Amino acid sequence: MASLPERIPVAVVGGGQAGLSMSWNLTRLGIEHVVIERSRAFGAWHHERWDAFTLVTPNFQCRLPGHPYEGDEPEGFMVKADILAYLDGFLRELAPPLFEGVAVTRLVSAGSDGGFVLETTAGVVSAEQVVLAVGGYHTPWAPPKVDAAIPEGILKLHSNAYRNPGALPPGAVLVVGTGQSGAQIAEDLHLAGRDVHLCLGDAPRCARRYRGRDVVAWLEDMGHYDLPIEEHPEGDDARREANHYVTGREGGRDLDLRSFAADGMSLHGLLMAIEDGVATFAEDLCENLDAADATYNRINAGIDRWIEEHGIVTAEGPSAYEPVWQPPPGPAPLDLAAAGVTSVVWCTGFRPDWSWVDVPLLDETGYPDHDRGVVARTPGLFILGLPWLHTWGSGRFAGVARDAEHLAGQMVVAAVPG
Ligand SMILES: Cc1cc2nc3c(=O)[nH]c(=O)nc-3n(C[C@H](O)[C@H](O)[C@H](O)COP(=O)(O)OP(=O)(O)OC[C@H]3O[C@@H](n4cnc5c(N)ncnc54)[C@H](O)[C@@H]3O)c2cc1C
Repeated sequence: MASLPERIPVAVVGGGQAGLSMSWNLTRLGIEHVVIERSRAFGAWHHERWDAFTLVTPNFQCRLPGHPYEGDEPEGFMVKADILAYLDGFLRELAPPLFEGVAVTRLVSAGSDGGFVLETTAGVVSAEQVVLAVGGYHTPWAPPKVDAAIPEGILKLHSNAYRNPGALPPGAVLVVGTGQSGAQIAEDLHLAGRDVHLCLGDAPRCARRYRGRDVVAWLEDMGHYDLPIEEHPEGDDARREANHYVTGREGGRDLDLRSFAADGMSLHGLLMAIEDGVATFAEDLCENLDAADATYNRINAGIDRWIEEHGIVTAEGPSAYEPVWQPPPGPAPLDLAAAGVTSVVWCTGFRPDWSWVDVPLLDETGYPDHDRGVVARTPGLFILGLPWLHTWGSGRFAGVARDAEHLAGQMVVAAVPG
């Protein structure tokens, strides 16, 4: 590809599904643009998923613009190689004006006439409008004091660097966190016969299938994925919540941590501290398990109500989930050496990094201040791909196309002098 142009109407920062969905819309509208990507297109899917990764969302929710899933398993879950092939197909069809291996290091205002200057590792670009499509998972985070207290000799890594059980040294593994990554990585290790100690957080869970269908399919019919954040009962808090844990592995199934425990996995509450090689935990294991099961039952009960209200003839529902295992009383400390722990996998999420954006973007809580991706504080600046930017699917394959189309419309409006 040629070198970056000095001036361009629109610069899209980030070549993941959000940036490239934006590019698809801009191309359709005939708007000249570039996509600037510091690694490679869809880099997160190439480099930041473990080997046994499968989609958690069913294939039918893969809806990149002009590129719906067309395989013969719409209610299945693509494995990593199939996801990459799906994304590759999109990229080939789109042939975007993509500059890979180029990082935007600073975004500043071009001055009083509007527009932006992007400082990049391949030179400076001026753009009238900029779309930030850099994802919602920037810097892997772990509690610094606890991380620093992990004894030397124990390998520590974050979920985005985990690949497979064989890549960890022999011995037991402490997995911290039970969002989608933590619960699935714990299962991956457990299935490989590794001793796993899993520290639960407050992530909820849901069933994979209920009353004859995937739960996602029911929720889609129920309009859950069209619900805008403004109408979400939990409001903006929904943006900060951990995802429900469930898996698409081997055709999809529940992730029932209690059944893992019954099968030998050691469950703990929140990891509080490590001192002299001994880990201590909060007394919240029971509470966290109960809360996750309550969400599971509540979602199923909502499906029951929908079925009843709409007179749908379908399989009878199982009764509410009955716990198959109960934690012993009190949180027992864990002597890491005595338990043979040789690695710690942090599955404790990510923190945003907007330090390179030198124009008004964030609200007082540090979250980008936007209305469906339009940054009011800085005319001409847009943002795309954040979890719950507009709906549940905004940060996923399910909803990014809708958001990109909306934003492209707003950009056309913004480009016309008022
Ligand atoms: C473990 C995990 C499992 C997931 N499972 C599913 C699933 O089953 N189904 C689903 O639909 N979604 C899933 N998601 C969510 C979502 O689809 C992904 O996070 C997706 O990668 C988001 O796409 P994006 O384009 O918004 O961001 P990203 O894929 O993160 O792309 C952003 C791009 O911006 C680039 N970039 C960042 N900063 C700069 C800069 N300064 N200059 C230039 N380039 C920059 C990055 O290199 C990156 O390539 C999952 C996410 C994770 C983490």
